[in-house]
Amino acid sequence: MAAEAEAGVADASPAASSVALDRPQANGDHRPVILVENLTRIYEVGDVKVPALRGVTLRVEPGEFVAVRGPSGSGKSTFMNLLGCLDRPTSGSYYLAGEDVSTYDSDRRAQVRNRYIGFVFQGFNLLSRTTALENVEVPLYYSNATSQDRETKARDVLGIVGLADRMNHFPSQLSGGQQQRVAIARALVNAPELLLADEPTGNLDSRTSVEIMAIMQRLNRERGLTILLVTHEPDIAEYASRIIGFRDGHLVDDVRVDKPREAARELADWPADGWSTASET
Ligand code: ADP
Repeated sequence: MAAEAEAGVADASPAASSVALDRPQANGDHRPVILVENLTRIYEVGDVKVPALRGVTLRVEPGEFVAVRGPSGSGKSTFMNLLGCLDRPTSGSYYLAGEDVSTYDSDRRAQVRNRYIGFVFQGFNLLSRTTALENVEVPLYYSNATSQDRETKARDVLGIVGLADRMNHFPSQLSGGQQQRVAIARALVNAPELLLADEPTGNLDSRTSVEIMAIMQRLNRERGLTILLVTHEPDIAEYASRIIGFRDGHLVDDVRVDKPREAARELADWPADGWSTASET
């Protein structure tokens, strides 16, 4: 398992995995990062049942970059919570990196989260009285890493997101884009196989949004990181190589993007006084 290689995100290659594999490998197939079949989630509010997901089937291979779209209330958050092992489905199966996690209790789900998954949120969710370096070290407190290991790994991933010179800054001393980069570094520090990003550019201006997408594309292409990114912004979805869409608890679209937008190239061409085509809705 890549997260156990304990050598930072550089080792997040799917090929580094040695996790016990279930059904996908038994079929002679290679193992998808995500395999969900007929997933449902029904919330119970008093006597009322709210079917938020009504039977979703999806397979995501290692190294895919998937954007998740859909109107408010269509089930995106419910789906991401299930994928992130923050919640359990009402029925259906979920294999994460070959492991059937759909029946795990909350302790085992926490272990799985720590081992396989990095999270990035719209609001950055950094600890305000803690430096960038210390924020990035936080997930490592749940492992048996020494303080030296923690610092080395945190420095490595902050370097990857271009913040080597900001490690001792507090969140309030950083721009929104820099704070989101700290959050990405924090998500990477356990060398996850899967990055789940929920509206990561929702609080950022156009250029900063493209900067964040450039980092995501680089992590995806150069390090093989599998990414699922929820966004309501059509421009942002176009940086992914696959776009799936939810409506009324169903997966209604699944489209491969032949030529995704190239964030790094757009940044290189970005005019000094800015333009407004990207990520403004
Ligand atoms: P989206 O993220 O696409 O806006 P959600 O997954 O948040 O959609 O919501 C899907 C449906 O489930 C909506 O009808 C919403 O009202 C309902 N829902 C979401 N969370 C809960 C909850 N904790 N309890 C009851 N109903 C919920």
